[in-house]
Amino acid sequence: MPSEFELIRKYFDRPARSAVLGVGDDAALLRPGAGMELAVSADLLLEGRHFRAGADARKLGHKSLAVNLSDMAAMGAAPRWATLALALPAADEAWLDGFARGFFALAERFGVELIGGDTVRAPTGGPLVICITILGEVPRGLALTRAGAAPGDDIWVSGELGGAALGLAQPAIAAAAQRLDEPEPRVALGERLRGIANAAIDVSDGFAQDLGHVLERSGAGAVVEYERLPKFSGADRRQVLSGGDDYELVFTARQEKRAEIEALSAKLTLALARVGSMRAGEPKLLVLGKDGAPIAVERGFDHFAP
Ligand code: ADP
Ligand code: MG
Repeated sequence: MPSEFELIRKYFDRPARSAVLGVGDDAALLRPGAGMELAVSADLLLEGRHFRAGADARKLGHKSLAVNLSDMAAMGAAPRWATLALALPAADEAWLDGFARGFFALAERFGVELIGGDTVRAPTGGPLVICITILGEVPRGLALTRAGAAPGDDIWVSGELGGAALGLAQPAIAAAAQRLDEPEPRVALGERLRGIANAAIDVSDGFAQDLGHVLERSGAGAVVEYERLPKFSGADRRQVLSGGDDYELVFTARQEKRAEIEALSAKLTLALARVGSMRAGEPKLLVLGKDGAPIAVERGFDHFAP
């Protein structure tokens, strides 16, 4: 059986190009660009919680990095470096090969370097755990946060909502299953929204819940028209409003930015829908139906919900 060190060398040790020092020492060394701030985010994927046992290794490699890239997108940061910590139930080389293929295919597309990590054996019967920390760069003062939305701002959503939740419910719908298993992080959009958007978040736990975080952090309310929400074909209302794992961006911007945002949508060939607006007052989300009457909204995913 290969040793821990052989596995790391074989599957995860790639030459670092932009890092000062990559895999192989006690720590990596990084040199952020002049005038840049570092954006740092960690996500943990747990077998039995975020994916089922026996899930396709290549897709897991893709998704575990994609959810981190999505956090960079939501900050308006350019992803640069990542670390990868794994608790592995077995030294399964077919699994490691598939995982590394999915991981590096996406990493190369977005110019991300794997600069370190940790690899341990899970205790007998213990779950597979994948924890990635990602680091990105954003020019000083230009990061998009959840706190910057102002009353009167338009609310925008990229792509379509509800596809991943539909894929979870009906895996036989291939396009929906792909949205769940191989999400496309909106990195280019996030970077282009610097100086345009006032606030942004990615949809990981459901549109209503994630927009709710923006409302709380910004200290304002929102009115959204259900008819205007971009819906994945076949997704029901609960999947559209409260389904997780879509990794689209929800952002707010002043009304004067409409033409710029529409031009950006055309340039990126990515649909951007204007779905509502921010209101002064309580951080409450009001979703209105076609008749103008409010629609009851289920909260999205919460790990600690009873
Ligand atoms: P340490 O004992 O200092 O934790 P390790 O022996 O665990 O070092 O790791 C050796 C080197 O391999 C380190 O540079 C570490 O960052 C890197 N490494 C370990 N596991 C991974 C992994 N899954 N992906 C990328 N790099 C890894
Ligand atoms: Mg270690």
